Amino acid sequence: MAAYVCPVCEYVYDEAEGAPREGFPAGTVWERVPDDWCCPDCGVREKIDFDRKIS
Ligand SMILES: [Zn+2]
Repeated sequence: MAAYVCPVCEYVYDEAEGAPREGFPAGTVWERVPDDWCCPDCGVREKIDFDRKIS
């Protein structure tokens, strides 16, 4: 699975972990996250601004 990182605050959305407090259970793939979803940490950047994390 992939992970995506906010370019502002470095919050990481990991598909394997999801974001349960955001309503995305573990295993929720990035494609299922709405395009207008905002970074839960900084609230500045939306999904489209996130970068795929290279691990
Ligand atoms: Zn952020």
